[in-house]
Amino acid sequence: MNQKSKKIHDIIFQNRVKLHLFETSQRKIWTIVGKEKEHWIDPELNFCSCSGYYFGMLKNKKPCYHIESIHIAKQEKKFETIKFFDEEYNSFITGLLAEL
Ligand SMILES: [Zn+2]
Repeated sequence: MNQKSKKIHDIIFQNRVKLHLFETSQRKIWTIVGKEKEHWIDPELNFCSCSGYYFGMLKNKKPCYHIESIHIAKQEKKFETIKFFDEEYNSFITGLLAEL
């Protein structure tokens, strides 16, 4: 197992992938709990908020391992779903952005 697949494996098996699901709009926010921060991933846009993503894309157009982790977690159904009300969406985003 290489370094990257070990990281992905750890994320999945430590249940660090979270789906924040807003009722009733079904808006979805995916995050991965990192060592120090929480990362915001958009699997449809292939975007991640971490610095590894930023520099990876800048250097060699390679995304970070978080994006791959989300895709695997979705496939294997290995993520935690946390439900919110739509009314909480704005304050959730504000809180998340403050943590990134
Ligand atoms: Zn990332």
